[in-house]
Amino acid sequence: MVEAVVVRANGGPEVLELARVEPRTPGAGELLVDVRAAGVNYIDTYQRRGIYPVDLPFTLGKEGAGVVAAVGEDVTGFAVGDHVAWAEAPGSYAGQVVVSAAMAFPVPADVTDETAAAAMLQGLTAHYLVTSTYSVKPGDTVLVHAAAGGVGLLLTQLAKARGGRVIGTVSTAEKEALAREAGADEVIRYTETDFADEVDRITGGAGVAAVYDGVGKDTFDRSMACLAPRGMLALFGASSGPVPPVDPQRLNAGGSLFLTRPTLAHHLATPEEFRRRCDELFSAISAGRLNVRIGGRYPLAEARRAHEDLEGRRTTGKLLLIPG
Ligand code: NDP
Repeated sequence: MVEAVVVRANGGPEVLELARVEPRTPGAGELLVDVRAAGVNYIDTYQRRGIYPVDLPFTLGKEGAGVVAAVGEDVTGFAVGDHVAWAEAPGSYAGQVVVSAAMAFPVPADVTDETAAAAMLQGLTAHYLVTSTYSVKPGDTVLVHAAAGGVGLLLTQLAKARGGRVIGTVSTAEKEALAREAGADEVIRYTETDFADEVDRITGGAGVAAVYDGVGKDTFDRSMACLAPRGMLALFGASSGPVPPVDPQRLNAGGSLFLTRPTLAHHLATPEEFRRRCDELFSAISAGRLNVRIGGRYPLAEARRAHEDLEGRRTTGKLLLIPG
């Protein structure tokens, strides 16, 4: 039996319950992994609340890194004792989890399990956003909301590495300092000023080529106002709540704009795509070109506090849960 954070009823952080569960035996193509660090992601809060429905009861979590404890049939390339990281294994808030070998990445020797766990879901998201959703080109100016958050810090660094000019938004002075450290050229405190007016001023009225908006309800309308003609609004999340239905005519009025609502799973469509994105991400980490900030570590038993801090807007970078 291993410890696990279980959801028996949807609701606030108080529904998270530490339980003891029997780990599943790994089937064909699967690995059983001792979890060293599980990543906390905003999607976990959506699943906990039931906004993204999951059959109850369930063990929360999707991401982590750890050590292979057992190997299922037909697995090649992995052995007991290997360090692996993953972004899409349901039930990762636990002492052990079963991971698809095709979607497990061998952690490079110079990267810790904690950094690997912290890099996966948010790092792969930042990677597909700047390479596939709106591919940042040298000279582009882009707007990154919540630039000191988990995705935000990585997105800022990856957009800068592609030659972009980054305008970040944040809510506090501490977060502003972190966004600047990550390379943001300009930082707007969007809780104090109208960020679209500021973007207008910063770009001399030209607007930005793309807005990466994971905040949703509170930012969507003004995000659209920031775009240059033919610019792209990549709405990739809803930390402030879901965006109401949109009239497509607004895209015309705004200047032949593009609106997309991308998701990670569609950008890890094959094991090859998963590997390619991981290789690029971990090469940047190993070379010191990408800094992965771990903003908080919590024992698995304190998953509730981690969720309260994340939803309370008190966190920066990545939150990790550490099994006992
Ligand atoms: P963050 O670390 O970015 O935390 C959320 C941040 O959003 C907060 O720190 C806060 O930053 C900002 N925020 C603004 N308004 C609110 C509000 N009302 N309540 C809470 N937070 C608010 O989280 P993640 O990096 O885990 O995720 C960021 C977004 O990316 C989420 O919407 C998530 O769902 C999405 N996502 C989407 C993926 C995809 O493939 N589509 C994959 C991964 C994540 P500040 O205080 O500076 O305003």
